[in-house]
Amino acid sequence: MIDEAALLAGIPQQLLIGGRWVDSASGSTFDVTDPSTGAVIARVADGAVADGVRALDAAAGAQDAWAATPPRQRAETLRRAFELVQQHADDLALLMTLEMGKPLAESRAEVAYGGEFLRWFSEEAVRVHGRYGTNPEGTGRMTVAQRPVGPCFFITPWNFPLAMATRKIAPALAAGCTVVVKPAGLTPLTTLFFARLLGEAGLPDGVLNVVTTRASGDVSDAILADPRLRKLSFTGSTEVGVGLLKKAADNVLRTSMELGGNAPFLVFADADLDKAVDGAMLAKFRNIGEACTAANRFLVQASVADEFAARITERVRALRVGRGTEDGVTIGPLIEAKAVEKVQGLVEDAVAAGAALLAGGHAADGPGTFFEPTVLTGIRPDMRIFAEEIFGPVVAITTFDDEAEAVALANATPFGLVSYAFTRDAARGRRLIETLETGMLGLNVGVVSNAAAPFGGVKHSGLGREGGFEGIHEYLETTYVLTPDPFADV
Ligand code: NAP
Repeated sequence: MIDEAALLAGIPQQLLIGGRWVDSASGSTFDVTDPSTGAVIARVADGAVADGVRALDAAAGAQDAWAATPPRQRAETLRRAFELVQQHADDLALLMTLEMGKPLAESRAEVAYGGEFLRWFSEEAVRVHGRYGTNPEGTGRMTVAQRPVGPCFFITPWNFPLAMATRKIAPALAAGCTVVVKPAGLTPLTTLFFARLLGEAGLPDGVLNVVTTRASGDVSDAILADPRLRKLSFTGSTEVGVGLLKKAADNVLRTSMELGGNAPFLVFADADLDKAVDGAMLAKFRNIGEACTAANRFLVQASVADEFAARITERVRALRVGRGTEDGVTIGPLIEAKAVEKVQGLVEDAVAAGAALLAGGHAADGPGTFFEPTVLTGIRPDMRIFAEEIFGPVVAITTFDDEAEAVALANATPFGLVSYAFTRDAARGRRLIETLETGMLGLNVGVVSNAAAPFGGVKHSGLGREGGFEGIHEYLETTYVLTPDPFADV
């Protein structure tokens, strides 16, 4: 059993700039709270615009040497970081539970998932290839080479404090890019701890810099406008992402955008209902429903809808709400009071418009920001809960009659991150791969995330991919060279 106070006392709370832990230029700090108690658990440096610029100075200063570091050496640094994350898995898991609220078992799963990006990209660092060939005219030789994009700026969200950081940092470092990262103000501690582990793994000073701040807009604006920056990668809401894209355009930055979702979860009458319910519980309640990949709209064929709703309601009633550190707790608090208000508003709006409430429906007793696991049926496309990302533990069920209607409902959203479908009909499964407008599809499974897979969305869910063979290419620039036919003069 790790002592919470001792763990927190050992976590860095300053900015990491050029390899040194420093106070913010203003000397001010902001509070980090445990959402399950409301208690302040840390006070971290409140970085100012000048700190953001100093962090970019450090990243830009370290860029050439890091790009020139042999790929094997970069790979081994990442591999050591992977091993350090394993050694500190219990500390990292507890830290995430304390600052974000998810149950400890889920934090451990995130440590495993987040750590995998370090292992995967340590392996990819030495597999960046170019090509050489004859031009079609036969008069020259074409060489295509890859090189690091250059200094990157990362903005990460609070819902997966470790994995959203490693999913960006690992491929960037593997490719030879240096980084400034700004973690979410609600959950900065995991990134600060991870940055320290990277230092212990031997990462040179200045290659990774961390700026925590309450002035996210101002600090980011200054970094985005700086001509030394070459790349922005953002994970968060579509609204903030669109604003950042506009700013990135002024500096013609390369961008990767992992934005909001509104995942459909399709259950056909021919599905194995036991598996569909298991998949639904994972797709909906993992991370307290606060995942961009969370199933948001359950679309169930009318002939099995009552049975599906009854089975899932029974499972939902067995969930246990509480502090994520307690044994047996499966649903932690939502991240903050605003999130509870939003989920409550969506549920009330649906019920007022005619939805039936089968379980939950209300904020649970505090002092933390808890919300009861909830099941609603009778959801129609004109309700807010169908159109908006719920980001909470609410199952919202809509019915359909046939596959064409199911696909039309699934695609009736500007988002396209992930979809889930349960069917035993293989031909239908193959059709859905082509008809659903989605970056990822879980066919008879409720979780798709994997470091070896290209994670990302279409439509308003984003641009680019993180993980997989594709992930490192977000951090590589292509150089093409034409030379004369070397035998022409012979
Ligand atoms: P958010 O409000 O957009 O915040 C995300 C990050 O952006 C935070 O670090 C935040 O800093 C920062 N930020 C906010 N306003 C900014 C501005 N004007 N300039 C620069 N940075 C700014 O999103 P969130 O509530 O943390 O996360 C939930 C959203 O993320 C959901 O929509 C979810 O679907 C999405 N998400 C997507 C993926 C994916 O891979 N597609 C993964 C996880 C989450 P502060 O903390 O200081 O506000």
